[in-house]
Amino acid sequence: MSEAVTAYVLLGSNLGNRAALLHEARSYLAAAAGDIVAESGIYETAAWGREDQPAFLNQALALRTTLAPAELLAACLAAEQRAGRLRRERWGSRTLDVDILLFGEEIIALPDLTVPHPRLAERRFVLVPLAEIAGTLRHPQLGDTMEALLARCSDPLPVRPWAGE
Ligand code: AMP
Repeated sequence: MSEAVTAYVLLGSNLGNRAALLHEARSYLAAAAGDIVAESGIYETAAWGREDQPAFLNQALALRTTLAPAELLAACLAAEQRAGRLRRERWGSRTLDVDILLFGEEIIALPDLTVPHPRLAERRFVLVPLAEIAGTLRHPQLGDTMEALLARCSDPLPVRPWAGE
């Protein structure tokens, strides 16, 4: 078992009972990956430019984990698959995405895992929830805080606090 690190993950769902799927994902990750030491509010982002798709709910979590990065990825994929099974039975296509945004200060370039997440700094739906729980945390490659990255992010997509169904 490795030493504990704080990893940040982003949950996303745009089909089915989105809030329930995020809740399931939190429960699964808390059991399989480590303590959830911080969680952002839930935000809604229109699937802009893709009007055929429902809006996304997103939430960032900080997980205190002793898993290795590849093991955390496996837990994230397992959470997606569990949601996928539910979805296939009840609603059809896929509805849960779990991305690893940061893993401590580590820079990881494996064939199936890139951390920090390569699109972290480009997307408001990532930066808004992440800055809420880790505003002063610095990106290990870019050197900027999450708040600074958000302040200069040019993504035009509005990201709104979700008020519930
Ligand atoms: P997607 O469903 O488009 O989010 O892609 C999922 C795949 O991206 C996973 O099977 C991973 O192998 C790969 N991947 C690469 N980097 C990451 C990351 N930081 N977090 C989650 N998945 C990642």
